[in-house]
Formats: sequence, structure tokens, C-alpha cells
Amino acid sequence: MDHKELTGHFLELIRRASTVVPPDVEKAIRQGIENEGEGTTAASTLTLLLENCDKASDASTPICQDTGALYFFIDYGPDYRQKQLREAIEEATAEATANYYLRPNAVDSVTGKNSGNNLGAGTPIIHFHERDEDGLRVRLMLKGGGSENVSLQYKLPDGRLKAGRDMDGVRKCVIDAIFQAQGKGCSPGVVGVGIGGNRDTSYSGAKEQLLRDLGDTNPDPELAKFEAQVLAEANSLGIGPMGLGGKTTVLGVKAGAMHRLPACFFVSTAYVCWAYRKAFMSVKGSEVSYD
Ligand code: SF4
Repeated sequence: MDHKELTGHFLELIRRASTVVPPDVEKAIRQGIENEGEGTTAASTLTLLLENCDKASDASTPICQDTGALYFFIDYGPDYRQKQLREAIEEATAEATANYYLRPNAVDSVTGKNSGNNLGAGTPIIHFHERDEDGLRVRLMLKGGGSENVSLQYKLPDGRLKAGRDMDGVRKCVIDAIFQAQGKGCSPGVVGVGIGGNRDTSYSGAKEQLLRDLGDTNPDPELAKFEAQVLAEANSLGIGPMGLGGKTTVLGVKAGAMHRLPACFFVSTAYVCWAYRKAFMSVKGSEVSYD
């Protein structure tokens, strides 16, 4: 596939991520409306969110004004090179900004100047994974600033939370993060959890969890139990959509564990708001599919 074609496919992937609510998220919001019950503020709020999504998708305009930071996770085969992929992504990102699929969101941290095209030092964020099979598998997430601001990292043991170095300690951290996010991260959100690892891998592991399907079950039975328990507990806090009260505070909890140093036990939460924008693309030869 030549550079122009590849760039065009990345542009389409960005457009889809920014303007179309993923089916698993839509399904979870609809379930939330049913759980909240007709006539409640929570159900009305969730209904408004879906109406907003329909309008965005019909007009091909962003679901939310903050189109967030771009996170690409790319599995690539021997027929692709990282440099080639990076160049196509950067060109597509600038074009997506010019087409208003993305808000200019890259600010120079020293001068305060916005680059105007979402390109700059460290952005877009691209994680490359080499594989043996030809072709590409691309997962893209657009993560808004409000939800990024309420993502947190803990170090166990934590005296304030009375949280020890075990899964119950991890649970206390995640519930605390959800409690602290209320009214700020545009709930209902989804929480990715990174258990263990180091400062950096714990956070990036938590983010990668957000690319899972909301309806899936963790293949690790202990983590599956943990996710279900934290989801139920979070939704009993009464925070509700946009912090206005209700049973739908989070749409999902997705956790992954990494080995850690004996001296360290980090727990990271990657909170993402209801504008949970993700899109996927597979490329095999000249065949391209989006899902
Ligand atoms: S937190 Fe999410 S929904 Fe709220 S303003 Fe940011 S991107 Fe939009």
C-alpha cells in the first residue's frame, strides 16, 4: 500500500474514532438508561448523551469538543516499517485537524503555543508492537483532558485508604479514584486499571485495558471477579451520570496485572469519560476493514 493510501486510511480511522460512538459503549449507555428507569434525571442525562452521539455521527462532527490526545497501538508485520507508519499517522493527524475531526490539542509546555495541527513533541502517542504476520492491526483511542486529569496512581500500602499490598488494597484504590473523579471526569466513565508494573508501565498498562470490548470477560478468573466486584461497588456510590445522582457511575472496569519489583506496588487508574472514543482497523495486503 502506498503512502497516500495508507494516510487516507489513518484519516478515516481518526474520523470514525472522533465522530462515531463505538457499539459496545452505546449498548452500555442504553443498558444504563434501562437500569435507571424512566423519568429519572439519570436516564434523561444518558438519553441526551446518546442524542448528542447520533447528531455527531450524522454530521461527521466530533462527539465532544475536546477530541483528546491520540493513542495509537499498532501491531505491524514485516511488510511495514515504523518510520513509514509514523509519517502516515502524522500526516493524517494534521489533515484530520484541518478537517475539524480533531481540535488543535497540542500545546508547547514551555511557550504555551498551540501547534495548531495536533503534532508536537510526544504527540500523537504511538505504541508499536512487531509481529510475524503480514499486515496491520491498529487500535486508536482519543482520550479527553478532563478524564485524563482524574486518572490517578497509588503506591501500596496506602495509609490514608488503609489499603494493603493485596487485591483488596487495589480495590480500595480504584474505588477512591472513582469517588474523587465525581463531577469532573464526565461520568459515566470506564476505568482501566494497571496493577503492579513500574510508574510508567502501570499507567500505560491501565490505558491499554481501555481498548478491550466493554462486554468481554477477563480471561484471568481472579481479575474477572475483581472487575465485576469493583463495577458493582462503584455503581452503588450514587454518583450517577455527570455526578447528578444515579446507579450508572461507571460503564465498565477493565484490569490488567504486571509483575512488579518487590519494593514497589503501584496501582494506576486510567479513567475515560462517556465520550469513550476508540476505533480499530485491520490491513491485509490491499484489504482494509474498520471495526
Ligand atoms: S471529559 Fe470527556 S466528555 Fe468531558 S469534556 Fe472531556 S472529552 Fe468531553
